[in-house]
Amino acid sequence: MTDLEKRGDRSPVPAGWTYAPAPESTEIVSLQERYGLYVGGEWLEGSKHYTTLSPRDEAPLAEVAQASEADVQNAVAVARDAFGPWAALAPSERAKYLFRIARILAERSREFAVLESLNGGKPIKESRDVDLPLAAAHFFYYAGWADKLEYAFPNRSPQPLGVAGQIIPWNFPLLMLAWKIAPALAAGNTVVLKPAETTPLTALLFCDVLRQAELPPGVVNIVTGDGRTGAALVEADVDKVAFTGSTEVGKAIQRRLAGSGKKLTLELGGKAANIVFDDCALDQAVEGIVNGIYFNQGHVCCAGSRLFVQESIYEPVVEKLKKRMATLRVGDPLDKNTDVGAINSRAQLERIVELVEAGKAEGAEIYQPPCRLPEQGYWFAPTVFTNVAQSYRIAQEEIFGPVLSVLTFRTPEEAIEKANNTPYGLSAGIWTEKGSRILWMADRLRAGVVWANTFNRFDPTSPFGGYKESGFGREGGLHGLEPYLSFS
Ligand code: NAD
Repeated sequence: MTDLEKRGDRSPVPAGWTYAPAPESTEIVSLQERYGLYVGGEWLEGSKHYTTLSPRDEAPLAEVAQASEADVQNAVAVARDAFGPWAALAPSERAKYLFRIARILAERSREFAVLESLNGGKPIKESRDVDLPLAAAHFFYYAGWADKLEYAFPNRSPQPLGVAGQIIPWNFPLLMLAWKIAPALAAGNTVVLKPAETTPLTALLFCDVLRQAELPPGVVNIVTGDGRTGAALVEADVDKVAFTGSTEVGKAIQRRLAGSGKKLTLELGGKAANIVFDDCALDQAVEGIVNGIYFNQGHVCCAGSRLFVQESIYEPVVEKLKKRMATLRVGDPLDKNTDVGAINSRAQLERIVELVEAGKAEGAEIYQPPCRLPEQGYWFAPTVFTNVAQSYRIAQEEIFGPVLSVLTFRTPEEAIEKANNTPYGLSAGIWTEKGSRILWMADRLRAGVVWANTFNRFDPTSPFGGYKESGFGREGGLHGLEPYLSFS
């Protein structure tokens, strides 16, 4: 709704926008009071439980099992028993199950989107328009490869590995599950997956999809719990570990698995450079900057959290950016108009606050648009820091929140040097109208994914992964199948 205001003798113009609440109903989701572990196609009672919350208001949603070491070992043994028959199945039959899962996810996408926003805090328009379509697309894409592995890897006799232990984070709970499970099954492996402790609910609802798809029992098993459950899965009798999460935990897993013969892929943190040249389409770039850092509250491993602006356009970029930030609607994740939702957990909020305080103390200038944050729940206003030096913690460390640091450069060489001055190497963005410069930059940026004149674009056909402390191995595309296969 707009308030119309007379401007002298001219026609009425909008004097400001206010949005009526447009909450998505949660009725479509029915939660159990308590969830067990999904093992062998059955629900097993866990011995201990914890409460999972909604970050928008800290309301308890359900009790979830904390799987013990013995629970994890049992799930792996069940997955091992299921491996032989699953791997022996005609690949075209395996494909059918994956197609079914894709179809059911698409059919039930509204239910999943609501639950994802409820348990994780992300805006419903993102769960609905990004997470769910991409998760279904992943299963659909890998279903297509299941009976074409010989063509995908000619003369290499691709064989499944056995049981994959998979550990995922809380920022894209269902999407990360899809990135992990779809290629593993397409390649003929069985799976034990552990969701993040704060966002287990869509993974638990996914078990219902597995039943609906009549996936043979034991092919996919879901064990919930915190880091201890993850550590038990790494130790268990699995043939491969696929981990997405923080660099710190990734390093610990790598140390643990060194010499064990278990295969490992690590998708870790990032501190992406988003580089804006003075010949770019400025308004488009500002949209890309906003999408790059405020999408999913900045809880994105490839978030464009370091903005490098060419010195000659520094003022107009910062001015346009602040103006655009003032239009972002922060609030209820279940409201269809919300742009920035809730921070995922109290612990994550504390980490964001700590780093923002460090930025202020080190001398950076902070800007936050005026916005009223809800009183309950975990919230942080979209934030931009200017006057940032390369050495500041906010320019070095992954904040994993809606906080952007702006730095400047003069020449493409300087942009490369500054962009690569980080232990991470996950993604980067380039904004320029000059095609040759895009290629020159992309060649020199040490980042697994480089976007040009766009940001945060994903597609199941396109490999995603990092360099340096952002990990190794790729997910998506043909590259994403390779870590789940052995070759003779
Ligand atoms: P985290 O490392 O704390 O947790 C990730 C997962 O590992 C969780 O399921 C957790 O329970 C489990 N875990 C914790 N300790 C463990 C241990 N000792 N052994 C085994 N498992 C353990 O990370 P997080 O805070 O949940 O997620 C945020 C991080 O994930 C960020 O650094 C982000 O950049 C990264 N991330 C990376 C990608 C990518 O594709 N590169 C994608 C999403 C998130």
